[in-house]
Amino acid sequence: MQHTRTGDARVTSPVHPVCPAPTIDVDRSDPAYRAWLKESVRKVQADANRSADTHLLRFPLPESWGIDLYLKDESTHPTGSLKHRLARSLFLYGLCNGWIRPGKPVIEASSGSTAVSEAYFAKLIGVPFIAVMPRTTSSAKTRLIEFHGGRCHLVDDPRTVYEVSARLAAESGGHYMDQFTYAERATDWRGNNNIAESVFEQLRLERFPEPAWIVATAGTGGTSATIARYIHYSQYDTRVCVADPENSCFFDGWVTGSNDVSCDSPSRIEGIGRPRMEPSFVPNAVDRMMKVPDAASVAAVRALEGAIGRRAGGSTGTGLWSSLKIVAEMLTLGRSGSVVTLICDPGDRYLDKYYSDDWLAGQGLDIRPYAAAIDAFLATGEWPDHAG
Ligand SMILES: *Cc1c(COP(=O)(O)O)cnc(C)c1O
Repeated sequence: MQHTRTGDARVTSPVHPVCPAPTIDVDRSDPAYRAWLKESVRKVQADANRSADTHLLRFPLPESWGIDLYLKDESTHPTGSLKHRLARSLFLYGLCNGWIRPGKPVIEASSGSTAVSEAYFAKLIGVPFIAVMPRTTSSAKTRLIEFHGGRCHLVDDPRTVYEVSARLAAESGGHYMDQFTYAERATDWRGNNNIAESVFEQLRLERFPEPAWIVATAGTGGTSATIARYIHYSQYDTRVCVADPENSCFFDGWVTGSNDVSCDSPSRIEGIGRPRMEPSFVPNAVDRMMKVPDAASVAAVRALEGAIGRRAGGSTGTGLWSSLKIVAEMLTLGRSGSVVTLICDPGDRYLDKYYSDDWLAGQGLDIRPYAAAIDAFLATGEWPDHAG
């Protein structure tokens, strides 16, 4: 299923959440607090200063197509996913707003990757960290959170992660980071080497330096918002497509122009697909959305290993599937140009999921028709009709 929204679709902005309540447990002008604040900001900035940029890899396509496909490899951050950028931004935002205080825990609702990265930054500045996550989160991620000194609080119903996080914060006097609200605004969308600025800089010497499309996926929606805003701000013609997995309401909300949509089943593609329209998802900035079957996402991420020798998580497959469909459309229309998508996190977190045939069988997912479609497309340039 896919859709290009027409001009009259009305999408209203999500209701603005209430900002965290004022806290009076810290004297903001206390020199000891100000020294702690400065030191914490320095530590987070120093982490960025020690880090290298992530690679922009090429996905091999037949030379004669005149189309280049790239993958921004966000799995090489120190905490292994694109959430490293987000966690850094959220910690700086929370510190500079006076929301994160010495000795008080940071709490987050997460499907895992954000919690891994936030546990790392919490340890860096020496505050406790609690992740509130669905019980279905991969065990590799809970181990990573604990490795970074965080604690995992697992819930049975993924829709309760928000209220449970808020309650834990209220009980502990801590700060609920709330990535689903603050991701889009904590990120410097105009530049400061955000993911979009980095991609455009890395494309500078390519034959098609201004991509026709950038394909993202949405968990918080922050990455697609940053990319789209940066493109509009920089006056590029690049368009943004967001690929949505089966169990998610973002696609329906975008198509119908309503925030009043929900999805009862938890997403099987970790990191993306949400039960509600998240405040950080900025639908009007996005040009197009595509609904991707979960089996297609898994088939695509397995094909990625064959193409570039690297394993990635399921959401990378969702974006790659959409990108290949867009490449197919460009071929049909006789257009040349470039397309960019992301490697969101590494596959070693999901060996017992997307790389396990037993797990696929247990979920009733048959990836063979989609895998065959990708093989056929890369061999012939024809997108098979049965592949949707
Ligand atoms: C968070 C996440 C995404 C989507 O990024 P957002 O900026 O939150 O929309 C994609 N893949 C993985 C693995 C993620 O953790």
